[in-house]
Amino acid sequence: MKRFKNLPLSKFSRFRIGGPAKEIIIAENRKELMEAMEGDFWVFGQATNVLFPDEGLGKRVIFFQGGEFHLDGEWLISDAGVALGEIIEASLREGLAGLENLAGIPGTLGGAIYGNAGAFGSEIGPLVREVEVWKEGKVHRIKNPEFGYRDSVFKRQGGVILRAWLKLKRGTGREREIAEERLRARARKHPSQQVACAGSFFKNVLMPDGRKIPAGRLLEEVGAKELRVGGAGVFEKHANFIVNMGGAKAKDVLRLAKILKERVKEKFGITLQEEVIIVEDP
Ligand SMILES: Cc1cc2nc3c(=O)[nH]c(=O)nc-3n(C[C@H](O)[C@H](O)[C@H](O)COP(=O)(O)OP(=O)(O)OC[C@H]3O[C@@H](n4cnc5c(N)ncnc54)[C@H](O)[C@@H]3O)c2cc1C
Repeated sequence: MKRFKNLPLSKFSRFRIGGPAKEIIIAENRKELMEAMEGDFWVFGQATNVLFPDEGLGKRVIFFQGGEFHLDGEWLISDAGVALGEIIEASLREGLAGLENLAGIPGTLGGAIYGNAGAFGSEIGPLVREVEVWKEGKVHRIKNPEFGYRDSVFKRQGGVILRAWLKLKRGTGREREIAEERLRARARKHPSQQVACAGSFFKNVLMPDGRKIPAGRLLEEVGAKELRVGGAGVFEKHANFIVNMGGAKAKDVLRLAKILKERVKEKFGITLQEEVIIVEDP
């Protein structure tokens, strides 16, 4: 277990934004996580989908990053702290299908389940058959949890995701190729590892007839890419990524997001919803 006192959360977040936390713990396995969950705390994975506040956080902040996983036939059983990329690679090695479209999504399995991470028409939710959750000091098992678009029962009802059972399928032999194509598509359009951001800032827009309008397209049309507030700007290859161009504060990002929302509302009558989790002390 690694413990840090009075370090800024910016050092731990992919956005490189966030003030100090009273205490930061990196739990590298389930035992360390269980020990760390005492008193008041927040739990994150690799902080690739969060915007931490400039004022920092008063409670202990735990990052669950690590743990064990194994494959048993078509079942993948994994601690929530395991990197999503690691289990995708293992499933491809075993010739299993289900996770190939998610190749390249950063973060942990826990973060992916919490936000029902998805890409290229696939989501993790339908593969998740059982989840072990810690809530108010007790460990529960939830079978076939409910998911929605970037939404889950965990997002709505809380609890710390400890472990999950995913049901994959025998592959067709093309899964590795598909995963590599997804990685190439990301390299063309998405920010590289060096760019500080938290993924797509807004959710795509679900129309009543089921169509999805990419938020990036609406943002492109309102001139998002020219905008900048303090250190926060918009990624040049994709208008739905707000990036920290150097020294951005959470307040810069929020101000920029507000302007973007106002412009989209004015031009299209659509209110964009944030996909990035804006973290604040209650
Ligand atoms: C360049 C880039 C590209 C991205 N592309 C995609 C994409 O294509 N599709 C997509 O869906 N996302 C994408 N993301 C967003 C992000 O990678 C995913 O949402 C990822 O699943 C978050 O995992 P994490 O471990 O970093 O979660 P964190 O950012 O650490 O946490 C996110 C939320 O999950 C909660 N959480 C994390 N772990 C647990 C746990 N064990 N128990 C309970 N709650 C938990 C946290 O409290 C927080 O509210 C991208 C991000 C970046 C930076």
